[in-house]
Amino acid sequence: MTDEVIVAGAGIWGCTVARRLAEAGRRVRVIEARAAIGGNARCETDAETGIEVHVYGSHIFHTHDPAVWDYVRRFVDFNGYQHKVLVKYRGKVYHLPLGLTLVNKFFGVELSPGELKDFMADEAHSTAVFDAFFRGYTSKQWGRPPEEIDPSIIKRVPVRDNYDTNYYNDYWQGIPASGYNSLFERLLDHPNVSVECGRAFSLDDWDGRTRVYYSGPIDALFGFRYGALPWRSLRFETERLDVADFQGTSVMNYTEAEIPYTRIHEFKHYHPELKDVMACGRTIICREYPQPWKSGDEPYYPINDESSVALVAKYRAEAAKLPNLVVGGRLGDYRYYDMDQAMAAALAATAQGC
Ligand SMILES: Cc1cc2nc3c(=O)[nH]c(=O)nc-3n(C[C@H](O)[C@H](O)[C@H](O)COP(=O)(O)OP(=O)(O)OC[C@H]3O[C@@H](n4cnc5c(N)ncnc54)[C@H](O)[C@@H]3O)c2cc1C
Repeated sequence: MTDEVIVAGAGIWGCTVARRLAEAGRRVRVIEARAAIGGNARCETDAETGIEVHVYGSHIFHTHDPAVWDYVRRFVDFNGYQHKVLVKYRGKVYHLPLGLTLVNKFFGVELSPGELKDFMADEAHSTAVFDAFFRGYTSKQWGRPPEEIDPSIIKRVPVRDNYDTNYYNDYWQGIPASGYNSLFERLLDHPNVSVECGRAFSLDDWDGRTRVYYSGPIDALFGFRYGALPWRSLRFETERLDVADFQGTSVMNYTEAEIPYTRIHEFKHYHPELKDVMACGRTIICREYPQPWKSGDEPYYPINDESSVALVAKYRAEAAKLPNLVVGGRLGDYRYYDMDQAMAAALAATAQGC
């Protein structure tokens, strides 16, 4: 093992790993395949309006993990944004998650806390809620016909027996006040770290002795020798509008199967503290369309089924044969991670400082 380490991939996992290793005294060479750092939490600030556009879909940092919250705040402050998700169904707007606000409005009733559970235990009620808010959305999200979506999903959806419309249960949440990119820039801002963008790490360029922390796709690392792991992809259609406020909130879900997109993001609402940006007479929205993944598309959501579990196990076995290789992150582990989980995994991967 040499003194230098390579970190391949500059998403939140790679940037956290790089910082930890640099502070442990290692010389860290970060190699990022894309033209810029930040992975899927990368943002671009629109020059005309000052709106921070989330290039790969809305990202809200939320966590229940005090170690992660302490760590991330070494680099950025958060703006106190609290995430709400609204949903438009047949022209009316409701609040997720499933709670008193949604149920009372949808059925035109006045349930009190303590009455919701029995109300939802009635199959006619749970089926109506499932059909309106989950069936169409889930079928669009996963590309399966509504008939194949199991209505028992509704039983697993958390029900809040109160009027709390905060989307997350996590204790801490927000958006970096100085923007997501500043988090990544500051994580990598260390004299022991060098960064090279626009170059993909490959095993062909590796001497086998330098320790590598790799967070690209695990199947790509081994040349897809057992086949490609399946993903669900997304297409984003971004539009600039001459209105100050298009939908009055950051995310509006569309649950009807006939509407081809699942949500509309309106990015200016992530920074309510930026009064000039909020007051600007223009806004930027983005429609999110789920789509099948094919080679060359951005991989977004891993598809966990029996065959993909078996396939990823083969690639993990290959990785385990290489003692100086550590594979992690959402692409390396082939696992959906929220950002806090990716950061927690990076802290764990570097707990020994090597
Ligand atoms: C639509 C969507 C919305 C999301 N919203 C949220 C949210 O609101 N809150 C939340 O906490 N999480 C959210 N997430 C999850 C979040 O995107 C992940 O937690 C995060 O991206 C994980 O970081 P990572 O470093 O593991 O992977 P990535 O961010 O994907 O970074 C991996 C990096 O590796 C690079 N790379 C790939 N191959 C190579 C190679 N061979 N050599 C060098 N570099 C390579 C890639 O270009 C990329 O920059 C969302 C995910 C999706 C799909």
